[in-house]
Amino acid sequence: MPQLGLGDYKADNGKEAIDAIHWAVEAGYRHVDTAGIYNNEEAVGKALQTASVPRGDVWLTTKIWNDDVRAGRTTAALDEALARLKTDYVDLLLIHWPADGYLAAWKAFEQALSAGKVRAIGVSNFMEEHLADIVDNGEILPAVNQIEYHPYLVQAEAISFSDMHDIAITAWSPLMQGKFLQEPLFAKIGKAYGKSAAQVVLRWCLQNDIIVIPKSTNQGRIRENGELFDFELSEDHMIAIDELERGERLGPDPRDFDF
Ligand code: NAD
Repeated sequence: MPQLGLGDYKADNGKEAIDAIHWAVEAGYRHVDTAGIYNNEEAVGKALQTASVPRGDVWLTTKIWNDDVRAGRTTAALDEALARLKTDYVDLLLIHWPADGYLAAWKAFEQALSAGKVRAIGVSNFMEEHLADIVDNGEILPAVNQIEYHPYLVQAEAISFSDMHDIAITAWSPLMQGKFLQEPLFAKIGKAYGKSAAQVVLRWCLQNDIIVIPKSTNQGRIRENGELFDFELSEDHMIAIDELERGERLGPDPRDFDF
């Protein structure tokens, strides 16, 4: 799974998302992250059909929304997503949140994997107890848990449980939607490498073995967010960023969400 992907939350279902994906592919990204609830799977599908590399070269992740999980219509929702995405498989399918009915959804995911509609299956926003439930009741372990992760929130318990079961972690909102980029430490560290605050934060994620899917629809920023593989943060800089952790969430707590 490519360690860098383009996030697509809030990219509109037309030219904006299509251009962003084409710019990302040109900049070397080979991974796109979307979801049914983002309402842009049609544009994602069009972008991949018209990209400068074959569909098979780009890792495509989508997610099944809570209403479909609760209604027990995961398989139908996946078929609808594949039609919107104009592809006969996704590389990774995620349960978006641990909504009631997630164990039945997981069974449907396992069947989709056998049917070849998905190449890998995983979860998102799952805490230790939700993961343990899948470990105890599922046949296949999740390949990935996609969770909120950035210097202000590292969710150590969910990560150590995932590590124990060989579940990869993808960070959502790795830039905290731009909220903390003014943090003076990032710019200060960036100066030492000729890199921006955003690049420092994304590189810190990668060096912690966390996959990143920063979102942008701006060509310059897409390129900037992709230039992460030509420098390495020192241990001292890694530790200085680690020390910023303060349990601050952007999104809701997965143990208590109401959508
Ligand atoms: P993000 O942390 O990626 O921040 C994106 C915002 O940061 C941009 O809109 C822009 O304002 C700013 N930005 C981006 N690059 C920048 C740069 N180089 N310099 C300065 N500012 C920059 O936020 P996100 O979109 O919430 O998260 C990334 C992706 O994660 C989403 O697009 C989506 O694909 C996924 N996601 C998943 C979940 C989930 O529940 N699984 C939840 C939220 C997001």
